[in-house]
Amino acid sequence: MYKADVLVSPGEIKIEERQEPILDDNGVLIKVEFAGICGTDLAIFSGNYRVPLPLVLGHEFSSEIIEVGNKVEKGLKGKRVVGADPVSYNLKYERQL
Ligand SMILES: [Zn+2]
Repeated sequence: MYKADVLVSPGEIKIEERQEPILDDNGVLIKVEFAGICGTDLAIFSGNYRVPLPLVLGHEFSSEIIEVGNKVEKGLKGKRVVGADPVSYNLKYERQL
């Protein structure tokens, strides 16, 4: 289990416990170490930028690959990666500290 900050409605964030994702053969599992709060996050939070809710905020982050799928190069485990997806609901898996 891990904790995620979830925007459930404009101006309302809840901390939720979530199940660890099941990694598919072509995926990687990352551990988010730091996440920024940008103008888009603020607009989403206030309801001025509409996205499907609930949503985990913090789409700009630094992280480490902690697990790789069976078809992924094993040497990637332990590498540091960043994400800057426009909105995190596009990520297949979301993970927060
Ligand atoms: Zn942003």
